[in-house]
Amino acid sequence: MEIELNETQKLIQQTARDYARRVILPQAAELDHKEQFPREILRGLGELGLLAVNVPEELGGAAAGVVSYALAMQEVAYACASTAVTMAVTNMVGEVIATFGTEEQRKRCCPKLASAEWIAGAFALSEPGAGSDAGAMTTTAHREGDSWILDGDKQWITSGAHAGVFVVWARTGDKEALPGTRGISCFLVEGGTPGLSIGKAEDKLGLRASNTVSLHFERCRVPGSALLGELHGGFKIAMMALDGGRIGISSQAIGIARAALDESVQYAKDRRAFEHRIGDFQAIKWKLADMKTELDAASMLSMRAASLKEKGRSFSREASMAKLFASEAANRICNEAVQIHGGYGYVRDFPAERHLRDVRVTTIYEGTSEVQRIVISRHVLEG
Ligand SMILES: Cc1cc2nc3c(=O)[nH]c(=O)nc-3n(C[C@H](O)[C@H](O)[C@H](O)COP(=O)(O)OP(=O)(O)OC[C@H]3O[C@@H](n4cnc5c(N)ncnc54)[C@H](O)[C@@H]3O)c2cc1C
Repeated sequence: MEIELNETQKLIQQTARDYARRVILPQAAELDHKEQFPREILRGLGELGLLAVNVPEELGGAAAGVVSYALAMQEVAYACASTAVTMAVTNMVGEVIATFGTEEQRKRCCPKLASAEWIAGAFALSEPGAGSDAGAMTTTAHREGDSWILDGDKQWITSGAHAGVFVVWARTGDKEALPGTRGISCFLVEGGTPGLSIGKAEDKLGLRASNTVSLHFERCRVPGSALLGELHGGFKIAMMALDGGRIGISSQAIGIARAALDESVQYAKDRRAFEHRIGDFQAIKWKLADMKTELDAASMLSMRAASLKEKGRSFSREASMAKLFASEAANRICNEAVQIHGGYGYVRDFPAERHLRDVRVTTIYEGTSEVQRIVISRHVLEG
């Protein structure tokens, strides 16, 4: 399956590639080393329309569609996976608000996210005791007059220390009457709202220039108008957002793996052993062949899911397949890239070690590989 890109998609891909290679790539190693949030880079992405690729133009977005978004993510991840995940979450938040928000919510939030006036958006679903099993969440929201009062803790929130707006899930129904995922609602909480405090940044294996924090809500009061979508209808919003998010993470994994492959090819041409280029050895050639084959297979699965979503067709199974395969293939590819670089793959002198650290999380967040297999097998068994 060869995807023929239209003019808009080619333009977005080229724009993202140019910015990623010219501006982001030269800074990526240092941002990682210093654990520096890529604030200025994000402003640039906002100017290029890449923080709201699939958000309507009247809300400040690029309205360029899901395939364009996936292509842009690949390009940014090629240069810097930390920037890519930050961009992915902001795009996801903007799209969720554009899709489920009231006119007032859409007009208030989407343009600020798109332009990077709010440097990031955050997606606050996971909790210390509720990750894969999001329905086990204990954060609550209860009505007090015209307001909602939020109490509880969220964990692993990307960009939490910098976000202008958080999409937050909380239990609004009585646990007995509405158990599991049924009594959950979704709220928009703006950064700086009293009662919302931000925990310290996680000390992560990879994506070290991205920000990941816990959130603590203590009598955090938001207006009645902060409810996003229907009361008790929040879980459906989360699942729809995650389906789309999985296309983003498959693209992130593909971008990281493509960088690892390109660098491996170059190294195989440059490095000499036993009076040969190491690329002359069959063992290295076969590694490169497998890496390229897996990468192309991942790209096709990802493009299929993006294209289905763009056409308004069902894409949940395809997004899970793309995310599962791309993230696991990208982990194998980045691991082989280190092997091809030998000892130099294990140190910071070459980007291979950063790619291996960065790619690891792609089989964990936006649903672990095990969760993707649950989703896919459900479709396989039940049609
Ligand atoms: C860097 C980073 C950024 C993140 N960003 C965000 C964010 O912005 N917003 C957000 O809401 N969350 C975020 N997350 C959270 C992420 O989505 C969760 O970590 C993930 O969903 C897994 O949840 P958990 O960590 O609680 O693991 P658990 O759910 O406790 O899983 C532990 C293990 O058990 C397995 N497991 C669980 N249930 C089953 C089952 N039924 N069958 C088989 N195996 C199972 C899992 O696959 C995993 O291997 C982020 C996480 C990280 C590491």
